[in-house]
Amino acid sequence: AGKGAFAYCSQQYRVLFGAGTSGRLGEEAERLGIKRALVLTTSEQHDLGRRLGTGLSDRLAGLFTGARMHTPVEVTNEALRVVESRDIDGLVAIGGGSTVGLGKALSLRTGLPHIAMPTTYAGSEMTPILGETSNGIKTTQHSQDLVPDTVIYDVDLTLSLPPHISAASGLNAIAHAVEAFYAPNANPLTSLMAEDGIVALARALPRIMVAPADPGARRDALYGAWLCGICLGAVGMSLHHKLCHVLGGMFNLPHAETHAIVLPHAAAYNAAAAPEAMTRVARALHSANAPQGLFDLARQLGLPCALADIGMPEDGIVRAAEMAVRKPYANPRPIDHAPIEQLIAAAWRGDAPA
Ligand code: NAD
Repeated sequence: AGKGAFAYCSQQYRVLFGAGTSGRLGEEAERLGIKRALVLTTSEQHDLGRRLGTGLSDRLAGLFTGARMHTPVEVTNEALRVVESRDIDGLVAIGGGSTVGLGKALSLRTGLPHIAMPTTYAGSEMTPILGETSNGIKTTQHSQDLVPDTVIYDVDLTLSLPPHISAASGLNAIAHAVEAFYAPNANPLTSLMAEDGIVALARALPRIMVAPADPGARRDALYGAWLCGICLGAVGMSLHHKLCHVLGGMFNLPHAETHAIVLPHAAAYNAAAAPEAMTRVARALHSANAPQGLFDLARQLGLPCALADIGMPEDGIVRAAEMAVRKPYANPRPIDHAPIEQLIAAAWRGDAPA
């Protein structure tokens, strides 16, 4: 196929977006025929789960507050016992990527309907992807059955997301969009969504830093996160996501911050091999240069710039580089050991992208 050729397949989603949309939880549960719902949260979001669970009135059958990062299989098994013992017939995940991951893991095992109510910008609710950890090893699987039956984006639920977590989570979302532009199966629609997603997030995040409860900025950020999440679910990701997966898994680094730090460097690595993608990223950021624009945005938001500052040991650079080049995957520029090690070293030190 020549330049400009593409294949396009759409996925089915049901999405409710707005302020106060969590008030429609009961109605959505009824629509899916749920009579005995289990609400899922992290321990930190226990109160939110309890409060929103009341919207289910007599359709609420339990609350499980054990969701954790990287979807550990032990947690899923514990939740499965609750599903069985309480005769649960539907799942409501309220939280970030960790909680939505638990909802996906449970719905995959049980076939139960799943309503997701995201409270961060990670985007998992829009993807047919599940990463699970067992004995410290993270494995990823793909299935259309993993896509939640209904996604309720309530802008009000994001008002409490602390500014620095909002910033890191927003950069995590932007990373999906950056890699969507140069994905091997990119198409014109995902590129439109990627560009508008970056525009919305880049405009909203600096406003959130000064006014965390600004409803307009929060709406823009969640809207951008939705678009970036669709990109993540629709096309294949490359070097940046691979590196974050390796680094996060090896050193147990925080997910969103790792993305924020690595992204300018991964973009710089691919810049010469993906010029059209870089033009669109730069345009969305109102910057002359995409990698530098991403780095400047992260710095403006006060995010850490160095992997050293979020707990990665220096001797991990060599080990991570070895792991990152082990298996081949699609990327605009070939994955070679020496420049990948340089990339990781630069991100470890917190250099500007070269
Ligand atoms: P998270 O879900 O781990 O949340 C981080 C912390 O913030 C938690 O303590 C949570 O309770 C709290 N929190 C969330 N929303 C809040 C709010 N509005 N107010 C106050 N506190 C809030 O973080 P995340 O970055 O959203 O998700 C990361 C996880 O999701 C990782 O395990 C990652 O691998 C996974 N993920 C998966 C996909 C996918 O497509 N499968 C996509 C993105 C992320």
